[in-house]
Amino acid sequence: MADLSLRSIRKSYANLEVLHGIDLDIRSGEFIVFVGPSGCGKSTLLRSIAGLETITSGDLIIDGERINNVAPSKRGISMVFQSYALYPHMTVFENMAFGLRIAGLSKAEIDKRVRNAAAILQLENYLQRLPKALSGGQRQRVAIGRAIVRDPRVFLFDEPLSNLDAALRVATRIEIAKLKQSMPEVTMIYVTHDQVEAMTLADRIVVFKDGYIEQVGTPIELYKNPANLFVAQFIGSPS
Ligand code: ADP
Ligand code: MG
Repeated sequence: MADLSLRSIRKSYANLEVLHGIDLDIRSGEFIVFVGPSGCGKSTLLRSIAGLETITSGDLIIDGERINNVAPSKRGISMVFQSYALYPHMTVFENMAFGLRIAGLSKAEIDKRVRNAAAILQLENYLQRLPKALSGGQRQRVAIGRAIVRDPRVFLFDEPLSNLDAALRVATRIEIAKLKQSMPEVTMIYVTHDQVEAMTLADRIVVFKDGYIEQVGTPIELYKNPANLFVAQFIGSPS
């Protein structure tokens, strides 16, 4: 269970500020979707939450604990990227188990976690295959599996479906919806530029523009009451 608070998060690259003070409170178990144009800072914010970027100022708080200076591997956060690199010479099982071995978990615990993730993602019959013998959608599910086995408090997705073709995106979106149901206690943040994904998956949508938050609300709220034309166009509401 994890409440996540972002307090006045600023981030600059050299002297270019790309996040201008982001404030957001996310409740435990919420599925939050970030949308906004390319370059508005969505990936930078996700990487900052994961600890892959150092923020310039502000506070990141999980369950009341300030995690600004906590190492990425100790934050209890898993992240799935758009381009997922599986180890080509390792089976599906080994791809999912690898990080857990490094972390020193017991063989029995690793086995349990990998089988649990495989069941959630319907990969049980593929555990002994190599990545090259999988479809693109199955490979992306293995990448998601690698994140699940770490038993995260917070799960971050950065446009995980954008490399898939249209039909696969729909199928994998349904998988993500199931994942959300099967891990109801895990807080999830999902970046997409696909309106259908945003409207169908989100408990709340956060609309970004140029390093600011334009509006936060449920899909229905944003659709019915967009704060401005920018949000309306992004959500696709008839204003
Ligand atoms: P989004 O994910 O919304 O497309 P990004 O977070 O990737 O946006 O990028 C936000 C801004 O920060 C862009 O102007 C981008 O060019 C810049 N940026 C991203 N990463 C770096 C980096 N490592 N070094 C310098 N500038 C970066
Ligand atoms: Mg991005």
